[in-house]
Amino acid sequence: MDAIVEKRYKFLRSHLVYFNISREDHTIFEWKPNGSNRSYTLELNYIRKNVIKDVFFHIERNNEKFVYIKEDNLIFTLCSANKIQYQTLEAFIEQIIVNFKETYDIEVIFSFDVSSNYFISFDKKIEELLINFYTLGIVKKVDIFCKVCGKLLPLIIKTKIIEESNNFPVPIVFRHDGHAIICFIDRNFVLRGVKPVVVSG
Ligand SMILES: [Zn+2]
Repeated sequence: MDAIVEKRYKFLRSHLVYFNISREDHTIFEWKPNGSNRSYTLELNYIRKNVIKDVFFHIERNNEKFVYIKEDNLIFTLCSANKIQYQTLEAFIEQIIVNFKETYDIEVIFSFDVSSNYFISFDKKIEELLINFYTLGIVKKVDIFCKVCGKLLPLIIKTKIIEESNNFPVPIVFRHDGHAIICFIDRNFVLRGVKPVVVSG
């Protein structure tokens, strides 16, 4: 692992706090860093009631971010400290889903209602993905100068957002430190412009 990748890996590893795969009403797999015994029952109950198929949801609770998506009637949830950007968390979940589907037959899971012991070895896949994440090329970093706060900031975007776009530049809303800007990114991941944006909701 080269020095930059190792630094990013250590940062990600030290900030990820929880991963969960659920059915409508119960957990089938969960991962926590070694030594963590925190419970996420309240958040999971909320997430299971507020999920729409195939759409990423983002929520923030107590300086932590939760990203979740429902796919094939399973709900995948990832939680990190606030410093990890949403696009990183989405990319991580998408890759976990690929790995999960390669490892298990989803139809079997639903037809036999298998116990959570069945998935214990998936822990290893999470650890592997952590180590390999920044070598897969599924996220890219673009440096952005924000005139609002006067800082040069790293914007993380999923590579496929740009690669699969039909229109350029691609507008990306970058929320940070209580405000937001729109960044326009071209097909070569070069910043073409930045505009302030009004946020509501
Ligand atoms: Zn700013």
